[in-house]
Amino acid sequence: MYLKELFIDNFRNLKKQKIEFSNKINILYGKNAQGKSNILEIIRLLSIGKSFRNSKNNEMVNYNSSYFYIKGVFDDDIDKKIIEISYKKDQNRVIRINNNKIKYTIQLVGNILTTIFSPEDLNIIKGSPSIRRRYIDTTISMIRRNYLYNLLQYNKVLYNRNKLLKELRFNSSNKELLNILDEQIVNYGSKIILYRQQYIKNLDIVIKKLLYDISGENANLKYENNINIDTENIIDIKSKYLDNLKNSQKNDIKYCQTQFGPHRDDFKFNINGYNSKIYSSQGQQRTAVLCLKLGEQEIILKETGSKPILLLDDVMSELDMDRQKYIYNMIQGSQVIITHVDKKDIDGNKYLHIQDGFINEE
Ligand code: ATP
Ligand code: MG
Repeated sequence: MYLKELFIDNFRNLKKQKIEFSNKINILYGKNAQGKSNILEIIRLLSIGKSFRNSKNNEMVNYNSSYFYIKGVFDDDIDKKIIEISYKKDQNRVIRINNNKIKYTIQLVGNILTTIFSPEDLNIIKGSPSIRRRYIDTTISMIRRNYLYNLLQYNKVLYNRNKLLKELRFNSSNKELLNILDEQIVNYGSKIILYRQQYIKNLDIVIKKLLYDISGENANLKYENNINIDTENIIDIKSKYLDNLKNSQKNDIKYCQTQFGPHRDDFKFNINGYNSKIYSSQGQQRTAVLCLKLGEQEIILKETGSKPILLLDDVMSELDMDRQKYIYNMIQGSQVIITHVDKKDIDGNKYLHIQDGFINEE
């Protein structure tokens, strides 16, 4: 699926307009603070229902308005999909797919595949484990239908278990309920561990080649679960996970926190055997993120049969010429939307100039 048209009304600084895109390389250029990243934010929002900046709906409404409306028309020559999101302040957001209102955002995810790469993504390497978990969770949600459902259920049960732990600290009469919640949490959590392990394993294979091609270095990705499970057998995962939970019940009650489970997991990106988060230079870390994004694109293609739309927010200017050329070769054949301050230096199939929230085609 590629993005054909975008309709925008009252989204951040963007003026009411319709934008048409090429199904190849689109260069969206303009000075700082004109609305380039806001356009990518819209496309990602139509894809996964969430802002890549983690913004709230209220924040995306134009300062002088009380609502926003965005609509994307996507096409792949066989099929057509129209995704609409409308939001009125202090009301529920409404999402429509081909004119049908959907009940849950989870129904949106997987319809339009996108990969976004922005300067803040450096935090996938540099930042806390929660950022790395969010990164893999978002991608897996796009390729595995029930993953997001599992994750939401897991978080719900985890919340209830932590609440119960607090109660049990003062009143131990409800221990039976804890055992029930342990069974439930293991049921959802094991699938999360399994899918994440599989994703990281596949990504590791792809990334080894990418990094070697780019810089001649050796990459190694490793998923680290705090239960120390090194198997893809779901029954074994479940039983070890349950054992850990049972053994830590006393401690969990003492600290009122669930210590074991995928909410505490992480993955490591090693370059030449050393953890990139700790030892890599800024440039190496940027290259590592670039590999994660290009690798993600490859895996999405392998798993779903379609290439995601690539959204590159201001990343070209941060990479040296060799790396820019490498990306340029890799992205051929995909629909790409690149934001850049200058029109020069980047070859595109369509140039869109943005000024004060309004796009002029050339
Ligand atoms: P840069 O090159 O610096 O990254 P950009 O073109 O990507 O710039 P955007 O991040 O898209 O810029 O932001 C454009 C403008 O939108 C900014 O000036 C920002 O203050 C403004 N803006 C953000 N939220 C809102 C809002 N809710 N209402 C109106 N304007 C907003
Ligand atoms: Mg920007």
